[in-house]
Amino acid sequence: ISLLQGKVLQTTFYKSKFGAMQDPWLTKMKFMVISLCLYSASYTDSSDDETSPRDKQQKNSKGNGDFCIKNIKQADFGRREIEIAEQEMPALMALRKRAQGEKPLAGAKVVGCTHITAQTAVLMETLSALGAQCRWAACNIYSTQNEVAAALAEGGDVFAWKGESEDDFWWCIDRCVNLEGWQPNMILDDGGDLTHWIYKKYPNMFKKIKGIVEESVTGVHRLYQLSKAGKLCVPAMNVNDSVTKQKFDNLYCCRESILDGLKRTTDVMFGGKQVVVCGYGEVGKGCCAALKAMGSIVYVTEIDPICALQACMDGFRLVKLNEVIRQVDIVITCTGNKNVVVREYLDRMKNGCIVCNMGHSNTEIDVASLRTPELTWERVRSQVDHVIWPDGKRIVLLAEGRLLNLSCSTVPTFVLSITATTQALALIELYNAPEGRYKQDVYLLPKKMDEYVASLHLPTFDAHLTELTDEQAKYLGLNKNGPFKPNYYRYY
Ligand code: NAD
Repeated sequence: ISLLQGKVLQTTFYKSKFGAMQDPWLTKMKFMVISLCLYSASYTDSSDDETSPRDKQQKNSKGNGDFCIKNIKQADFGRREIEIAEQEMPALMALRKRAQGEKPLAGAKVVGCTHITAQTAVLMETLSALGAQCRWAACNIYSTQNEVAAALAEGGDVFAWKGESEDDFWWCIDRCVNLEGWQPNMILDDGGDLTHWIYKKYPNMFKKIKGIVEESVTGVHRLYQLSKAGKLCVPAMNVNDSVTKQKFDNLYCCRESILDGLKRTTDVMFGGKQVVVCGYGEVGKGCCAALKAMGSIVYVTEIDPICALQACMDGFRLVKLNEVIRQVDIVITCTGNKNVVVREYLDRMKNGCIVCNMGHSNTEIDVASLRTPELTWERVRSQVDHVIWPDGKRIVLLAEGRLLNLSCSTVPTFVLSITATTQALALIELYNAPEGRYKQDVYLLPKKMDEYVASLHLPTFDAHLTELTDEQAKYLGLNKNGPFKPNYYRYY
């Protein structure tokens, strides 16, 4: 494995947005090696079975074989994982209860492309409980929890496993979409790849599709581009920018998972360490708050004077990266941008500096620039590489520059519950909206529904919400049942 790893990891690997350009043999070996090495959020080590799920004939306990996953025998284990997630996803469970009589998604055929984890499983099963038929693929080749996919395959149609190749990735998406006698009428996407695939291969499907719900920054960006070009064929709901997602998924999730990801991979002690966080948006604010609370000395870089001023007011030193790059122990990128940490900075970092990304995909750290002959790569743990300079200096690169928390830790389920509930409500809204309410454009979830998502989570904390009196409602010019804020209100 280490021989292969050496050969394969030194090879430049290039993934374009919608496809791959690489030597097929090396790709196959790379993914084989990586699937042997990675553990991330899945607790199942299924590495001893190297047969591609595409070459296996499996049937679930009902004799249905319309799925493609690693190993259906892991279904019981996956079910227990899903049950644990259910406890922290109270709003989805409440939606299931409320929908016992009516089925707001009856007749909906949802094709989804998201991370396949216990939390997504709770969402999928909620959509089914609300009346939808679902077919699902993974939006990420590494993040699938194989045992969860197995549990889902017991009841639904799922095409995903951890360590898919690029070819597998698109094959799984195609299997979800391309089925005789079944056509999706709703899309739930995370990253825009599924939407793109349908646009490219099956544009006629959009005649029956009532709407797209998109979760990620990248996917939403693509939708706005389509809309601007007049090419968006159906209404789309931008879940990423809903208040509930922005505040909870980006800020609170990253506040917790940055520490988890760093600890699991490096066992680093945070107290007294000098850390630079690039970007003081939602993700950056979460990372900075967590590290400050642990006693780290935190520097921030920003391009936007408003966020920069916020960083200053929150007590962080605003610097340029080149001013601190020689002295910091940890570098974290959270900008959503590209080439924030380039080779010049990597060359100047001190020995042992930990470098990781919490922001966009794998573009923030120029990892490709480290694949040069004079640098040696040494895999020291799953998701941890030492990159060694000729003079012996080494940096500790986590998850090869991909998202640290998604690759190396688990994400708090409660936070995902908020996003998943928003997705479910967005699907319900688009599916049931009367003709003409939504045009071929990108929309934010109505504020009232955002408030509803939040209110469904309050009982968990035994939180007691104050109700407006009639007099107060009149004074503020509000409906007693909301919405309580105008659309332009920012929940800082
Ligand atoms: P944001 O727009 O609120 O924040 C990004 C900040 O980075 C902005 O303030 C921007 O001015 C700043 N920035 C841009 N280029 C910069 C540069 N070169 N140097 C310094 N600062 C720069 O976005 P966000 O909600 O914080 O999300 C950031 C990224 O994190 C996005 O790509 C998003 O998809 C991703 N994200 C990750 C997770 C996760 O779990 N790891 C969760 C949510 C979002």
